[in-house]
Amino acid sequence: MYDVVEGENTVEDYDTKRLAENKAALAKIKGGLATKVRILVPADACPVCRAIEGAHAFDKVPEIPPEGCSCLDGSKAYYAPVLDRFGP
Ligand SMILES: [Zn+2]
Repeated sequence: MYDVVEGENTVEDYDTKRLAENKAALAKIKGGLATKVRILVPADACPVCRAIEGAHAFDKVPEIPPEGCSCLDGSKAYYAPVLDRFGP
């Protein structure tokens, strides 16, 4: 038997934390020079995460972790800016 302590590292807490972190990262990207957001996903991610990999318009960006994510240690997908600024 054990006591449930607030801040205990449950999967649910981890996902909530990741969601908040990724929302902050996304806000930062939207406020920068990027024209789109790319989602990068590690090779060992679950099919749901793999499905959201790629570039997304700002108004259609999926949340991370995505709904239905079954990654063992929580989603490791993350946002990266897409910079469409080539040459002068
Ligand atoms: Zn996943």
